[in-house]
Amino acid sequence: MCASTGTRRRPALTARESAMSDFYSWSRFAIRTAAAAAGVEGAPSKLIFVVTKRCHSRCVYCDIWKVKDTPGGLDDELSLDEVRSVAASNPFLQWIDFTGGEPTDRPDFPQVIQAFAEHCPDLLLVHFPTNGIATNRIAQMAEDIRAKVRARLVVTVSIDGPPELNDRLRGIRNDFGHAINTFAVLRNLLGADNVFAGMTLHGHKASCGHTSSELVDQTFAAINAALLAKNETALGWEGFHLNIPHLSQHYYGNTAAGPTDGFGGTAHRAEVMAALRHAAGQSKSAGSLPMRAVERIYRAEAMRYLAEGRTNIPCSALLSTAYLSEKGEVYPCTIWDKPLGNIRNTGYALMPVIEAARRAGVRKAVAEARCPNCWTPCEAYPAIAASPVRSLLALVGGGRNTHTVSA
Ligand code: SF4
Ligand code: SF4
Repeated sequence: MCASTGTRRRPALTARESAMSDFYSWSRFAIRTAAAAAGVEGAPSKLIFVVTKRCHSRCVYCDIWKVKDTPGGLDDELSLDEVRSVAASNPFLQWIDFTGGEPTDRPDFPQVIQAFAEHCPDLLLVHFPTNGIATNRIAQMAEDIRAKVRARLVVTVSIDGPPELNDRLRGIRNDFGHAINTFAVLRNLLGADNVFAGMTLHGHKASCGHTSSELVDQTFAAINAALLAKNETALGWEGFHLNIPHLSQHYYGNTAAGPTDGFGGTAHRAEVMAALRHAAGQSKSAGSLPMRAVERIYRAEAMRYLAEGRTNIPCSALLSTAYLSEKGEVYPCTIWDKPLGNIRNTGYALMPVIEAARRAGVRKAVAEARCPNCWTPCEAYPAIAASPVRSLLALVGGGRNTHTVSA
């Protein structure tokens, strides 16, 4: 038994056992994804878990950071012991997005991930986003996680513009410089296939005088100038992810930002679409073919979403994914402000809450697009996996995307 956790450690696997175990876990994931594609309502394979709402950024488009300045705002977050109970009660998870706030602002963040690694035998993929501010701490945590967790670890460092705009949007002096340092250190630690720069297209012509496409080019160039100045290899377009900005009250607390400054309005959406099309036209020198195909599908459906307000690929929330807040509340996803129940009332098990929501018709509402509708990376990638036929159509049609945004 492990003295610190009271849980039984599995013995280290040989290389052959490890390969067999990975093969078994991927096979299980493929079968479960196929079942979800057929509409079978089993346990979700993916969880989005907000480990904390602590965050030292001051982003103008997200109010999560204000939670820590709100009296009692951080009270009642799931403790590490409770997280271990969550992991033990939901061993079916195979893919977890540990998000925040800034996940690494939680001092026991590596132990949080280790808890799931110990209890979820088929855990394949662990991802977390980071603001990149505290380079040394983030790198140390990534090293700890990589040393103890077999699942693939992927990290996205947020950079939302060229230096001056990024620092203004994210409210931190020299935020761009910190993010570059973190990106470089993580990429050296985890490898280029596992570390991405993520730009959410918040900046736009009405807010800063440059279109989103211009900002994408300026940001990409600034990242590479900063990397080259540090004698680091350049970032390719395949490592640069563009995200559509979204509004969400229960997560970002940013729905009041909607009417301000054209954020999310018709002109902004048209700019975002042009920026996605622009990025799609850049050559990708690296990255596996499957990953490039998934990216192409993501972008093709993002453009459809921006033009029509919905996608052809149905959302898999409450089918193969679920969202867990830092206080144990289950929601369908990051966007829909629809609390479904708290796992503190179910012995930390997700399924009683999810099954009750399905019985109440919430999953049906998602399938019929009677939710706010969105296309966030958190939900888009599992949805692509769970819709092979429609994804294939998007892949084939993605190259001749002709959508336009209407008011
Ligand atoms: S967008 Fe991320 S980094 Fe910025 S305040 Fe919100 S949680 Fe923090
Ligand atoms: S499509 Fe609906 S249920 Fe799915 S992630 Fe978006 S808002 Fe949530």
